[in-house]
Amino acid sequence: MDVLIKEFMDKIITRNQHEPEFLQAVQEVAESIIPFIEDHPKYKEHKILERIAEPERIITFRVPWLNDQGEVEINRGFRVQMNSAIGPYKGGLRFHPSVNQSILKFLAFEQVFKNSLTGLPMGGGKGGSDFDPKGRSNNEVMKFCQSFMTELYRHIHADIDVPAGDIGVGAREIGYLFGQYKRIQGEFTGILTGKAAEFGGSLIRPEATGYGVVYFAEEMLKTRGELLEGKTVVVSGSGNVAQYTVEKCIQVGAKVVTLSDSGGFIYDPKGIDESKLAYIKELKNVRRGRIEEYAKKFDCEYFEGEKPWRVKCDVAFPDATQNELDAKDALTLVQNGCFCVAEGANMPCTLDAVRVFDSARILYAPGKASNAGGVAVSGLEMSQNSLRISWSRDEVDSRLKQIMHQIHGACVKNGRLDKDFVDYTKGANISGFIKVADAMIAQGYV
Ligand code: GLU
Repeated sequence: MDVLIKEFMDKIITRNQHEPEFLQAVQEVAESIIPFIEDHPKYKEHKILERIAEPERIITFRVPWLNDQGEVEINRGFRVQMNSAIGPYKGGLRFHPSVNQSILKFLAFEQVFKNSLTGLPMGGGKGGSDFDPKGRSNNEVMKFCQSFMTELYRHIHADIDVPAGDIGVGAREIGYLFGQYKRIQGEFTGILTGKAAEFGGSLIRPEATGYGVVYFAEEMLKTRGELLEGKTVVVSGSGNVAQYTVEKCIQVGAKVVTLSDSGGFIYDPKGIDESKLAYIKELKNVRRGRIEEYAKKFDCEYFEGEKPWRVKCDVAFPDATQNELDAKDALTLVQNGCFCVAEGANMPCTLDAVRVFDSARILYAPGKASNAGGVAVSGLEMSQNSLRISWSRDEVDSRLKQIMHQIHGACVKNGRLDKDFVDYTKGANISGFIKVADAMIAQGYV
């Protein structure tokens, strides 16, 4: 089997040199899918894995805009339209200086499997720009978003491609992007998700990724007769996903003791409560300040330039960004007694970190399963837009819970290795793959 995986990867490496993140995401999928397709020759015959690893289309464009000093700035915009076998391309936009084709191809590739797992009719895509919203005025962010959409508008539509947020793209950016699309096209339709509730957004969409990852962790813990209640939890990041992971953990009675940003992490042994969380939301979403300020305000420790993985915990939620947790961190977590890791970010654990979790046989879930709640509620936002109605918070939340339960069930079905151990990566990859692969076979070589 290793030879087959190597042969496949050699071809992918030759065609995608200098794209390490994309190669990492494909390698992880190949390791679970190649043994599966050996037992299901139709997928091999139609070269599904080779086709799935090639984007249907990549659009790259120039984004010129004027900053507050009246100077011209130039950024690069992208949209990777990865796979449309089961629905319109769907996936977020990331605005971050690190954004390049490799990162967006890995994200779009993951999104294909994730969206399939939700059970909703969404293909996979991802886009964004190397624009950094940090430190920019609202006026500059608006100008950038307007210029970005002035090119992107011709490639998206409610039935073609529906972007949303990701790192650096939240409610503010989605609002500006939506406004510009509406102005250019003269059309009010669901071309983006993550909109504010006043103009077609879904209730629970802001909470969905964070709540969903906690619902998923609860399902995982249940397989070992455990509850999240009373557990000590380590969370990385402090953006949308981290904030709502903390909110749901508080609601179910778990104690979150860390949060981080690119500057370092805070350790609050008393736990983050509702009022401290309200402070974090104001700090990060309104003032756009640094997490270090939390430590000063609540008199706890701040570790500059460090990640929170050496803090003793039962459960960890890596909610920041790709490759933020390596094999050494994984070993430290396991040695300190952590027995459940659910990814809120996309690919935050390196391949070697995952191997550490698997050999220790702890509960580990890849983002494409555990963080699928965000895009799932985006799918529900699309449904509500098409129906021209809005569901209540309870309605959306119970659908989200149900979807996370169903994704967990799919992972267990296709990932159970023995009585006591589920390989969630294998389960997620195979479950996500089957639906897309069968649709690709049915639609011929397109
Ligand atoms: N960026 C999110 C993700 O990684 C959400 C995508 C969406 O809602 O379309 O899944």
